[in-house]
Amino acid sequence: MSEQLERPTIDTAEIIAVGTELLLGQTINTNATDLALYLSALGISVYHMTVVGDNPGRMKDAILQAVNRADLVILTGGLGPTDDDISMQVVADTLGLSLQFSETAWRQIEQHFERFGRKATDNNRKQAMLPIDHTVLVNPEGTAPGALIKTTQDGRAVYLALLPGPPREMRAMFERELEPWLEAHSDTKFIHRFVRLVGIGESAAAEKLQDLTDQQTNPTLATYASTGETYVRVTQRLDRNGNGEDLTEALIEKIKERLGSYIYEIGNRDLPKVVQDILSEKNMTVSLAESITGGRVAAEMTKHPGSADVFLGGVVCYTNESKRRDLGVSKDDLAKHGAVSWQVAKQMADGAKARFGSDFAVSITGLAGPGKGDEDEKIGTCYIGVATPDGTEVFEYKTGGGRRTITRRAVLQALMRLWEVIR
Ligand code: ATP
Repeated sequence: MSEQLERPTIDTAEIIAVGTELLLGQTINTNATDLALYLSALGISVYHMTVVGDNPGRMKDAILQAVNRADLVILTGGLGPTDDDISMQVVADTLGLSLQFSETAWRQIEQHFERFGRKATDNNRKQAMLPIDHTVLVNPEGTAPGALIKTTQDGRAVYLALLPGPPREMRAMFERELEPWLEAHSDTKFIHRFVRLVGIGESAAAEKLQDLTDQQTNPTLATYASTGETYVRVTQRLDRNGNGEDLTEALIEKIKERLGSYIYEIGNRDLPKVVQDILSEKNMTVSLAESITGGRVAAEMTKHPGSADVFLGGVVCYTNESKRRDLGVSKDDLAKHGAVSWQVAKQMADGAKARFGSDFAVSITGLAGPGKGDEDEKIGTCYIGVATPDGTEVFEYKTGGGRRTITRRAVLQALMRLWEVIR
C-alpha cells in the first residue's frame, strides 16, 4: 500500500458486488462469500450485501446507502478497461472526488503486460485514473489497481475499498493489501494458519469439525473450498500488542486427529508444490500419461519454478492409436476392455515410466462425456495408474458434474494419488 491512513475503528463492513452478469445469473457471487468469510475472521460484522448492475445511478444509490450504515464499504468489480467498467468513476462522482492519471499505477500496469510479453493498450490508461490523495491498492494478479478511500459521513470516518472482480485478483488484493491494513488498524492482532486437505469435500470436512467450529471462539476455524481443494483456516486473535499464548497448534492437532489422512500441507503451499518439493527432497522424478485431462496435470506440475528437476515430461494420448503407438498399450486390451479401463491405465503408466525413465509415472484415462454412444452411467469414471519403483497400482474413481468439473477433479485425483505414494 503506498500510503498509510490514520487509525480507523472498523466494526462493521458492507459488501457491494458490481456487475450486470451477477444479476443475470451468469456469474456466481463468490466474491461476497469470500469477503464475508475474511471479514468475520477479522471480527468485523457484515449486516448487508448488495449486488448492483453496471449502472451509474443504481450504483450511486447503493454506495450512499452503504456509506450511511457501515464503517467500511467494499466494492468488487468494474475496475477493468472497458466502457462498462465504471466503479472508480462512480465512486469518485458520488463522493465528489476527482480522478487523476497516476504514473506509478500506469507503470505497474505496463509491467504486468510486459511479464506476459504483451503491451498495455490505450484502454488500459483508464485503469490508471485514480482518486488523488487516496491509497492505491496494488493488484498482484492483474492489471486493475484498487483504491482505499476515506470519506466522512455525519462526522464519522468511512472507508471505501475498491477491489477487482475476478475472484483470484480480488482475493490476492484483499489478502495482500486490505487485510494487513485492517489488522494493523484493529485493536487486535491475528495469527492465521492454513490446513490444506485433498480427497475430502468442504462439507464433509466441515461436518467432521462441526463441534470444534461451534465451540471455538478463539482461535476460530472455518473451512473453505477452492477448485476441488479444501482448506481449513485457523485464526487466533491476540491482544493489540500481539500478546497471548499461541493456541493454534493445539487446535491444529485436533484437526489432524479427525482429518489427518487428508492433510497434505499445514502452511501455504498448494498440492503441485508439495508434490514437487517431496520429489525434489527425495531426488526422484515423475512423468505423465494423460488422456481425459488433456495435459492439465502437466500444466499443474509445471506451475512452480524448479519443476524441471522432478517432472521429466508427459504424453497426451487422447486416441487409442496414440495410447498404442506412444505408450505401447496393447491393441487387444484396448479392444477387449476399452480405453477407460484398469488394464489400459496400468499400461499407460508403465509405458510413460519406461519411455521417460522416471521413478514414478501417473496415468489417467476416463470418460468426461457427453458424447455419441457414451453410456450415461459411465460418464465421470476414471482410472488412475501410478507406477512406482515397486510396482504399479490402479485406482478407479467416479465423479459427477459436467465435462469441466469432471476433468478438473480428475486432475486433482491424479495429483493426490501421486502424493499418496511419495509422501
Ligand atoms: P477486469 O479487469 O477483468 O475487467 P473488473 O474489476 O472490471 O476486472 P468485472 O469486469 O466486473 O471486474 O468482472 C470480471 C470477471 O470477474 C467477471 O466476468 C466474473 O467472471 C468475475 N466476477 C466479477 N464479480 C464477481 C463476483 N462478485 N463474484 C465472482 N466472480 C466475479
